[in-house]
Amino acid sequence: MKIEILTTGDEILQGTIIDTNSAWISEKCQMLGHEVTRHVSVGDDDKEIAEAVGAASGRADCVIVSGGLGPTADDITVEAVARAFGLKLKLDEAVLAEIRDFFGRVGRQMAKTNEKQALIPEGGRPLPNKVGTAPGIRVKLGRAECFFLPGVPRELYQIFDDSVLPWLKEEATGASEARVLRCFGLPEATIGEKLSDVPLHGARLSFRVKFPEILLKLIARSESDADARHSVDAAAAAIRERLGDVVYGEGETILPEVVGHMLRDRNMTVAVAESCTGGLIASHFTDVAGSSEYFERGVVSYSNRAKQELLGVSLDTLRANGAVSREAAMAMAEGVRRLSGAAIGIATTGIAGPGGGTPEKPVGTVHMAITTAERTEAFQYSFGGDRERLKLLFAMTAIDMVRKYLINL
Ligand code: ATP
Ligand code: MG
Repeated sequence: MKIEILTTGDEILQGTIIDTNSAWISEKCQMLGHEVTRHVSVGDDDKEIAEAVGAASGRADCVIVSGGLGPTADDITVEAVARAFGLKLKLDEAVLAEIRDFFGRVGRQMAKTNEKQALIPEGGRPLPNKVGTAPGIRVKLGRAECFFLPGVPRELYQIFDDSVLPWLKEEATGASEARVLRCFGLPEATIGEKLSDVPLHGARLSFRVKFPEILLKLIARSESDADARHSVDAAAAAIRERLGDVVYGEGETILPEVVGHMLRDRNMTVAVAESCTGGLIASHFTDVAGSSEYFERGVVSYSNRAKQELLGVSLDTLRANGAVSREAAMAMAEGVRRLSGAAIGIATTGIAGPGGGTPEKPVGTVHMAITTAERTEAFQYSFGGDRERLKLLFAMTAIDMVRKYLINL
């Protein structure tokens, strides 16, 4: 099926908000094997909206429209379309009752303007909105099945998943299977090179950079579910063999979550001493629900004094090697492990820039260390990028250091 996606709103055209709805909808459609043939954005202007819906519904089998279902004067999608297609708008009493109900539940008075959200074009059907007021609308226009959804992403997702997706599934011919392999530790180009002749067994491979990670997406289409799944299984296995432990996980699972699971499975805790990452490692670890089971503490020891007072790093170590050194990183990791009693201690010390670099230790230099009861290991990297990217890369590399350590345990 050919699908066109239309987003409406002056904010999109002005660049005040980024149109993430199109991308989200596209991905869902593509997963089912439908072809998204066009993305169009127009402002809150009834002529533009009517023209865009008119054109799209003449070309595509399905048109999905986001935005402009709200109660305010700039929310005009439904009126514009009804006028353009000569459809009467009817007040849907059941929808109105639901909107009233919604306001009752959240303890607010319904405004008169909200009534217009219960106007449904003749021939159309409301699609229940469980998280907001405006229902979506499904209506056949021209040759196309059209879905009108609110612009607010949370509401759009719910209505799409509950009321659009089932229909898209019915309309999908054949079967498809999709999988995302998540990679960390190699740049996109290197991964691309390594995979240039990997056997894909009929699956299609695409790359997405979600800095500092690379996501590999596999999609296979076939007559049967089993066939499609088999293609993806075989391609994923071949990729994993090529990339080894660069592939850290699948699907939506992020790196700190994978490392967290590994720690929990081994009944181990981790404590972190951070200089250049300024708490980012601790923040990423604790983004994961349940991290209190394995994340013991994080110390931000930015100054030399803090490294001495909070971690017991000796002044001699700092004087002899500098704060950005292998020796300092090891002493920091050992210090935080000793003081916390955690099974694993890790530390980072580096130069995130833009100032502070020297010829021997340029911006992007980082030393990190990991220590356990058995031994201490240190690593040095030099990365490129601005301060924000470097900090993130340093932090994720440190978290990945824990993963690699645990894999080899
Ligand atoms: P409301 O009832 O809030 O007015 P609506 O259906 O009228 O909802 P819009 O007014 O178009 O939707 O957008 C409401 C908000 O939703 C925008 O301010 C924006 O934050 C978000 N939004 C709208 N369109 C998009 C989009 N294409 N991508 C991401 N976010 C969007
Ligand atoms: Mg609005």
